[in-house]
This record gives sequence, structure tokens and C-alpha cells, in this order.
Amino acid sequence: MGAGSIFHPDFQARPFWWDEAEPSAAELADVPKEARVAIIGGGYAGLSAAIELANQGLEAVVLDAEFPGFGASSRSGGMVSGGVTVGKRYTGTEAPDRLAAFYADAADSFSLIEDLIAKERIDCEWTKTGRFGGAWCTSHYKKLADKVKTLNEYARSDAFLVPPERQREEIASDYYRGGIVIGRAAHLHPAKYFRGLLNLAKERGVALCAKAPVTALKRNGKGWMVSTARGDMLAGDVIVTTNGYTGPLIPALQRRVLPVGSYIIATEEMPEDLAFSLFPNNRSIYDTRRVLTYYRMSGNRRRLIFGGRAKFGIYSPEETAPILYRFMTDRLPQLQGVRITHAWTGNVAFTFDEVPHMGQMDGLYYAMGCNGSGVAMMTYLGTQTARKLAGAANYHCAFDAPVFPDHWAYRGNPWFVPWLGRYFRARDWIDRKLG
Ligand SMILES: Cc1cc2nc3c(=O)[nH]c(=O)nc-3n(C[C@H](O)[C@H](O)[C@H](O)COP(=O)(O)OP(=O)(O)OC[C@H]3O[C@@H](n4cnc5c(N)ncnc54)[C@H](O)[C@@H]3O)c2cc1C
Repeated sequence: MGAGSIFHPDFQARPFWWDEAEPSAAELADVPKEARVAIIGGGYAGLSAAIELANQGLEAVVLDAEFPGFGASSRSGGMVSGGVTVGKRYTGTEAPDRLAAFYADAADSFSLIEDLIAKERIDCEWTKTGRFGGAWCTSHYKKLADKVKTLNEYARSDAFLVPPERQREEIASDYYRGGIVIGRAAHLHPAKYFRGLLNLAKERGVALCAKAPVTALKRNGKGWMVSTARGDMLAGDVIVTTNGYTGPLIPALQRRVLPVGSYIIATEEMPEDLAFSLFPNNRSIYDTRRVLTYYRMSGNRRRLIFGGRAKFGIYSPEETAPILYRFMTDRLPQLQGVRITHAWTGNVAFTFDEVPHMGQMDGLYYAMGCNGSGVAMMTYLGTQTARKLAGAANYHCAFDAPVFPDHWAYRGNPWFVPWLGRYFRARDWIDRKLG
């Protein structure tokens, strides 16, 4: 890392969030012989399900292949929205009722996380300053204009349009062609939020089993025999919350979620005047490209956390960091010379209808398919799945749909994702050229 390098001498290829809240396998339980409910996957969804089950008086065990928090839940950008991206397929007049139901539940997911953090006093740098969505091209700006009314009506988004000439009120850049502000949005420290959930689960006596990959599931009377690398257990019910880390354990679920890598860099601390000038209202930012980027300041507002689909496929953070650095300085040229201290990656799970799903399949409960936006949503779906299992749901969740689509061309090997990435990049390029 010589002079002029974009990498800081202390560069680490691991999440910046782990500096203050590193999840670990330490002091975690042995796999018990039996439990009322076994939860496979210890992220936001799994822990929220376990906490809600405990609230309903049902004992649960969380099994994670690595350790709770290993997956996306301690690696994300920490941007929290009230359902801005759900139901993309259902815009327009296609299915207004369905769209309204998705948005209403997504808005509830924001209320749920906001209330939970306040009620349980989770120390996670919750900052409710809203989000700015930058239009990649003029046609996207026009689409945002159409979307404002829907977002406000159905998702209680407090959204408004920002014309190009007022864009600098939101971001110190002329890169976008105007945009949208979503007032009902926040950002938080994802690993501290995870730690808060972990503590709530521990307080309720939930057994948390690290290094316990589930290797087989077999029907056993009315329940299940759950085999793990650290022993077998009997469970009355099983909830699967493996999201972007879903493997071949349950092929029917693996076929329905497409794991895609998302990549993030964190910069070194910047001088206060530069750092505070970037986003005057301290909102988080995303853009309307198909191959999107998303970014925000850290909790102390001195570092930029910049994420995006730098590549499609499995690449190391060191390989993708220079690409993200270029995306960052394209948007904010004033950051040329600011160095990267951390770079990391994690998997998100896309679904074929671009909507998250929960429900039951072959007797197993599941919640997965965050489509890249799961801090609030997976907390919500984990909670809703637990309520469904406990018979305590007081309404039918819109994401509990009868159909969870698969695709004939996908059997669990996402070989085509890099080609899809090239196609989306080409379409983004054309859109931008057209204005
Ligand atoms: C880089 C990145 C940035 C993101 N940014 C944002 C953002 O800004 N805002 C937002 O809302 N969302 C964001 N997301 C998405 C969000 O982080 C996820 O939707 C959410 O954390 C998923 O939580 P989860 O509990 O469903 O799954 P995860 O947290 O991914 O947990 C799944 C767990 O399942 C375990 N597992 C898998 N197979 C097995 C098995 N056989 N046995 C036992 N355990 C198993 C894994 O070890 C893993 O720990 C981002 C994701 C990534 C990767």
C-alpha cells in the first residue's frame, strides 16, 4: 500500500461495524436434544422469530452454520426504509390491491423496528433523518414523480420530489438528475442492532448454537429430526431463515432465492467540514440504477460507508474495493484521496417476483428473500413467522403469499448472475445516454 494508494495502511478486509460489535461464537450453547422450535439461521429473521416465540411462551433454539450474526445481518449498509423497494413489479395499475398490501406491511416493518429499538433501548445509532434517492436519468426522475403519491398513500413515506436545481440541498454533487426524499427512513449500526437482538434472545433463555450447520431434516412423527454437525435434535417445528446463505439443505427453498454478493467500503475519518458538507441533512443515499449504489455517513458522521454491486459473482473485498472507490468518486469527486480503511462483502437473496416471502412449505416454516433490503423487513418477517407458528397472528401478512415462484432455469447454481449483471449494466448505460 504505497504512497497514493486508495487503501489506508491499517486497511482490513472485514466489516467496519465489527470494530465495535463483532459477532462471535464465544460462550454459545451446545445443541440440545430437543426443543419446541428449531430455527435454522441466526440473523435478524432467526433471532426475531426466537424472541417472538419466547414472548408467546414457546421455547426455541437457534442453529447457525457459523455463528449468529455471521450472515448479512452484521454486514449491511444499515439503511432502514419503510418499503420503498417492495413490489417493484406491481407498480402502475397491474395489481393495485396487492401493491397497497405490500406497502402497508412494509410500512409496518418500519414501525416495528423503530418501536422495538425504542422500547428495548437498543443502542444502535438509530438516526431517523430520511433517505435521498438520486435519479440516474431523466426518465427515472419522471418515474419517481409518479411514485411519490403511491408511497405517501400506501407506505406513509413522507416522500417528496427534489428537482435537479435543488439537489444540492441533499447531496454535494450534480451527479443525479434530481431525486426523491423519503422522510420515513433511517440508518443504524447493523452489528450493534444485531447485538441488541442477541441480548434480547439471551434474556429470554433462547439457546444460540454456533458452528451447528444443519445437514439433514427428516420427518419424525408430527415433528422433525434435525441433524447438525454438532449432534441431532428433535423439534416440534422448524423455521428456516437462511436468506442469501440458503444452501442445498432444502432444495425447494434454494431454488427460490438467488444469492447475490453485495460489496461495501468504509473510508477513513474525514475532516469535519468535508464530512458534514456531503449530505447536508445526513440522509442516506441510493440511486435508481439497476446496478445500484447505496451510501451514508457512519454514526459519528465522519466516514462514508459506500456500497453497491461492484461485481456480480464471488470476488474478494480487495478486488471490488477499487471499483466501489471509482463509483464513490464519480458521485463525490471531492473524496479523491480519502482512503479506504475497510472493505467487505455479504450475500443478499433475490426472489423471482422481487418480493420477500414467508410461509410454510412441506411442513417447514420459512422467511427469506429480502431483495437487498432486509434490516426492517427480516426483523418483521421473523416476527410474523413466529406469530403464525404460535397461532398468534392478528392479520394475514401480505408477504405470506400462496405462491413463492421459482424459475425453470435455476436449480441452485447461479451461473447466469454475471451475465444478468452485464445486461443490467448495459441497460443502465443506455438509460443514462438517453438523458
Ligand atoms: C453488503 C450488504 C449490504 C446490505 N445493506 C442493506 C441496507 O442498507 N439496508 C437493508 O435493509 N438491508 C441491507 N442488506 C440486506 C440485509 O442485511 C439482509 O436482508 C438481512 O440481514 C438478512 O437477515 P436474515 O436473518 O434473513 O439472514 P442472514 O443475516 O443472512 O442470516 C442467515 C444465516 O443463515 C445461516 N445458515 C445458512 N445455512 C445454514 C444451515 N444449513 N444451518 C445453519 N445455519 C445456516 C448463515 O450462517 C447465516 O448466519 C444488505 C446486505 C448485504 C450483504
